[in-house]
Amino acid sequence: MELREFTALELGAAIKKGETSVPEATQAALDRISTQDKALNAFITIAGEQALDRAKALQTGVKGADSPLYGVPMAIKDNICTCGMKTSCASKILGDFTPPYDATVVEKLTEAGAVSLGKLNMDEFAMGSTSETSFYAPVKNPWDLSRVPGGSSGGGAAAVAAGMGWYAIGSDTGGSIRQPASFCGVTGIKPTYGTVSRYGLVAYASSLDQIGPLCRDAADCAAVLDTLMGRDPRDATSLDGPYGRLLETLTGDVRGLKIGLPSECFGEGLDREVKSAVLTMADALKSRGAEVMELSFPVIEYAVPAYYIIAAAEASSNLSRFDGVKYGWRAPQYDGLEDLYRKTRTQGFGAEVKRRVLLGTFVLSSGYYDAYYQKALQVKAVIKNAFDQAFRLCDLLLTPTAPTTAPKLAASLGDPLQMYLSDINTVSANLAGLPALSMPCGFDAQGLPIGAQLIAPHFGEGTLLNTAHAFQLDTNWHRLTPRGGKTI
Ligand code: GLN
Repeated sequence: MELREFTALELGAAIKKGETSVPEATQAALDRISTQDKALNAFITIAGEQALDRAKALQTGVKGADSPLYGVPMAIKDNICTCGMKTSCASKILGDFTPPYDATVVEKLTEAGAVSLGKLNMDEFAMGSTSETSFYAPVKNPWDLSRVPGGSSGGGAAAVAAGMGWYAIGSDTGGSIRQPASFCGVTGIKPTYGTVSRYGLVAYASSLDQIGPLCRDAADCAAVLDTLMGRDPRDATSLDGPYGRLLETLTGDVRGLKIGLPSECFGEGLDREVKSAVLTMADALKSRGAEVMELSFPVIEYAVPAYYIIAAAEASSNLSRFDGVKYGWRAPQYDGLEDLYRKTRTQGFGAEVKRRVLLGTFVLSSGYYDAYYQKALQVKAVIKNAFDQAFRLCDLLLTPTAPTTAPKLAASLGDPLQMYLSDINTVSANLAGLPALSMPCGFDAQGLPIGAQLIAPHFGEGTLLNTAHAFQLDTNWHRLTPRGGKTI
C-alpha cells in the first residue's frame, strides 16, 4: 500500500512504529502535489521547504510524541491565519497579506506535531459552493477534472481526495466543509458552534462560521477535532466542554440509536441516485441495530433565504475592514480618501463578494432592516426550535449533503440563485449552531461520489462520528480514490 492510501491515524501509527518517517511522508505528499496540483489547483501556497525542515525537526521527537497525528502532513484553508505565510482568502484584496500571528487552530496543530504543506484554494472569502470564485482560478474535482470540487473548502476536499496530504482544515459557514467533502468523496465535519476557536479565521459571517476538518474517514475527523476543540479566551464565543475524547468514543455500536429522515430532504429536486445511496446507508445503519424513522421538517423551506440574508449582512460588516488603508492590497491610483476606498474595493473584490456586500448592506439599511434582517433572525429562531423538536423524537437526522453530485465547471456561475438553492440541506445546521458531518455513501453512474449528511444536537459530535464510523466499518466508499490513485 502506498503511504497516501493510509488514513491520517494509520500514518501517525506507522511513524510512531518507525515503519516510515516524518520526512518520508512529507516528501511523498510533496511529490504527489508536484504531479497532481497543476491540474487540480488545490493549493494557493505550497510550503515545500518549510514542510521538509519541520518534518526533520519533528522526526527527532517521534518517541515522546502524545498525539496520534504527530508528524502527519496536512494543509490549511487560505482564510486561516498562518504566521509568516500568505493568507489571501483567495482574494486579490488580501493577495499580499502575511499575518504576523497564527490562528488558534494553527497553534494547536503545531503543538500536536502537524506538518503543514501549505495553504488551500477556496472560494473568495469562503463565499460560494464551487471554489470557482477564487482569484487564483478554480479548483478541479479529482474524480472528474471537468467538474467542480464543491466549495468553499474545495481545495481541502480535492487535496485529501487526491492524496496531497492526509487531512485538511476548512471552515463552514453554510456547508463549506460538508458540501465539498460530499463532492470529492471525503469525510468532513462542522462541529458545534463555539467548540473550535475562530481566532485567526478571517470572518465571513461570524455567527455561523466554524472551523473543522476534512479527512479520509470519521476516525481521522475525531482525532483532528480532539486536537482543535477547546475554549479560547481570544474568541468570546468559544465554549468550555469536556473535549479531547472523541476518538475513544468510536465503538461502531449504534444499537438503539434513533435516526430521523426529514421527508422534505428526500422530495422534489433530489437526484434519484443520490436519494437511493442515502436510503441504502439508512438501511445499513438499521442492520447494525439503529432505528430509522421518517419525520417532517417543513421549515427547511425558509433556511436558504434566511441564511443568505444573515450571512450577507454579517459579511457586509466584516468585510468593511478591507479598505486599502491598514493592510491588504491598495489600488495604485486614486484621488483622495473616498476614491482610495472605492477603487480598492471595486478592483480588489470579485463579483460574488461584491454581490454579498451589496445585498448585506441593503438588508441592514434603515427601512429594510425589519423586513429582511429582523425577519431572517426570526426564521433562524424558528429553525432552531424545529431542530429541538425533531431531537425529541430522534438522536440524529440523516439527509443527502447536496441534492446532486458535483456539477460541471462554469455551470453555476451564471446563475447564483440556483447555486444558493443547492445549499438547502447544509445551511440549517449553521443557523442552529449544530454539529453536522458529511461522509461518502456511494457513487452515481458517472463515477462521482455521493455524500450523506448527519446532523446532531449541540455537542453531539461523538454520536455523529460514531455513526459515521459504524457505516465505514461496513463499507469501503471512503477508501476509494480517484482513478484508483493513479496520476491524473
Ligand atoms: N455556499 C455557502 C455560501 O456561499 C456556504 C459557504 C460557506 O460555508 N463558507 O455562503
